[in-house]
Amino acid sequence: MLDEARKLLKKYYGYSSFRKGQEKVIESILKGEDTFAIMPTGAGKSICYQIPALLLPGITIVISPLISLMKDQVDSLNSAGVKATYINSTLDNNEMEQRILLALSGYAKLLYISPERLESENFCQLLRTINISMIAIDECHCVSQWGHDFRPSYRTIQPLIKSLTDRPVISAFTATATKEVKDDVVKLLGLKNSKVYTTGFDRKNLFFSVVRGENKKDYLIKYIEDNKDQVGIIYAATRKEVDSIYELLKGKGYAVSKYHAGLDDSERSKAQEDFIYDNVNIIVATNAFGMGIDKSNVRYVIHYSIPKNMEAYYQEAGRAGRDGEASQCILLFGAQDIMLQKFLIEQSTSLEERRLMEYRRLQHMVDYCHTTKCLRKYILEYFEEENVQDYCDNCSNCKDETELSDITIDAQKIFSCVARMKQRFGTVLVSQVLKGSKDQKVSEFGFNKLSTFGIMKGYTLKEIKDLINVLIADDYLGLTESQFPVVRLKEKAVGVLKGEQKVYHKTQKRKKIAVEDNSLFVVLKTLRKSISERENVPPYIVFSDSTLREMSEYCPLDEEAMLNIKGVGETKLKKYGEEFLQSIKSYVDNKQ
Ligand code: ADP
Repeated sequence: MLDEARKLLKKYYGYSSFRKGQEKVIESILKGEDTFAIMPTGAGKSICYQIPALLLPGITIVISPLISLMKDQVDSLNSAGVKATYINSTLDNNEMEQRILLALSGYAKLLYISPERLESENFCQLLRTINISMIAIDECHCVSQWGHDFRPSYRTIQPLIKSLTDRPVISAFTATATKEVKDDVVKLLGLKNSKVYTTGFDRKNLFFSVVRGENKKDYLIKYIEDNKDQVGIIYAATRKEVDSIYELLKGKGYAVSKYHAGLDDSERSKAQEDFIYDNVNIIVATNAFGMGIDKSNVRYVIHYSIPKNMEAYYQEAGRAGRDGEASQCILLFGAQDIMLQKFLIEQSTSLEERRLMEYRRLQHMVDYCHTTKCLRKYILEYFEEENVQDYCDNCSNCKDETELSDITIDAQKIFSCVARMKQRFGTVLVSQVLKGSKDQKVSEFGFNKLSTFGIMKGYTLKEIKDLINVLIADDYLGLTESQFPVVRLKEKAVGVLKGEQKVYHKTQKRKKIAVEDNSLFVVLKTLRKSISERENVPPYIVFSDSTLREMSEYCPLDEEAMLNIKGVGETKLKKYGEEFLQSIKSYVDNKQ
């Protein structure tokens, strides 16, 4: 059976071997066992149900939560030569009927539907007349209230399964599952003696880093300047923050779009399309963006602010590097972020138990930002992986990419100013006093008479505020938890004020993403873009970046050589082989 599966992998997808974990999941499904697979984003879940779907006699119903993802997956399958279709609310009745006929006639091997479809009894009745071999449930954590994307319509799946005369095999997939969620999935989907496979959460090609105590805006701009040809997602915590980062980058001339729940449907789909079709390199978004994004060549994901928990972080960061190429996941940490997340928790629920759970999860996220141990180890242990190595050599804590500078004197000036202002004011006023500002509030309180007034006048106000934030992040200063946070001295500051201890500030060296694109790659990318426009599918559905990169390295000059390129299957060879071969040939000829 697995041999057959491998043949199909090569034929339709152009890959010669399964990845770690895929084989076991496929084998289990083919044996007819209910199968629950927990695999990180980008690990290759889709193939785990798509290949069995091709081998099983009847149709596979794939339940998938997002309409945009559905279209993408079906486009991608069709382009590889697999017969698949989808039904959702974007189709008119006529189109819907035709697709149902495709399913009934046995032509389509996979039928994608949204869970909301199952709320219609008519539709369920129709499903009962089809020969269903498998129901594959994508993002199955949506069934659980404990998950971060609870979708009530997932609760209609189990009644449907129960109502089918011949029970199909059930497979369920997710990237995130805590114990509560796992138990819920098994119970609420009614999995029978299910085999649970966790392939391991590690994504070796991702470089993780946490940036603390730096001015976020400055960092972001410099980073993007260094990596301006790369594709990236910037996640911000609020719509307002998205708008302001978007304006900032647009003002600097970058091709950028933005996405958040405050935009109307057409603006959002335009932003998404522009990003997917490579019209823009960068998208700035709230966490509303991404669940339906399969784009494989995202080279970096920057979190401008901390997300609410590690599950959300790993899922969002995991959108980088689905193609397996080196990519970066950077989290910019500021102490104020915590306040915002706490506020959001307070707003989100009135259930005390739930709130406490969210606070606990947030604390793990904050600990991630402060830990000095290997970041990958922290993540993997959070997801309960065992025997994790102490060093990964691919995160900002393992690779010490910091430069140290002695900031003791500035720290003493700041601490003494905070003390003289009786620890009753916020960052802005403290900075103004140190700067020697003529602001009315400063003189109203008589702070212009303090000995610390103007002792940092050589700095800009922003630089002083940044330094205060560094001292907050490093636990010398604290902020009270109130609407207008007040800066307080912490114990660590005492030794510094007495001249007994020194303060060093670590700054991150920025890292350029190490992808060297040769000139043939650029030529092939242009060809891919023109095919994508002609066929109205996203460029990565034609071929992924890593496939183009392999072509540009090995320069295949005939069909056989082309088939050896990872990601070139028979259908795609037929469809696009000639054009790419021509392009490579003329490139090689011109070079000679
Ligand atoms: P997930 O749904 O787990 O996030 P996908 O199914 O979208 O991941 O797969 C991520 C990427 O990995 C896709 O570009 C897919 O084509 C690729 N991929 C999957 N399986 C393999 C494999 N066995 N060999 C090479 N690439 C693979």
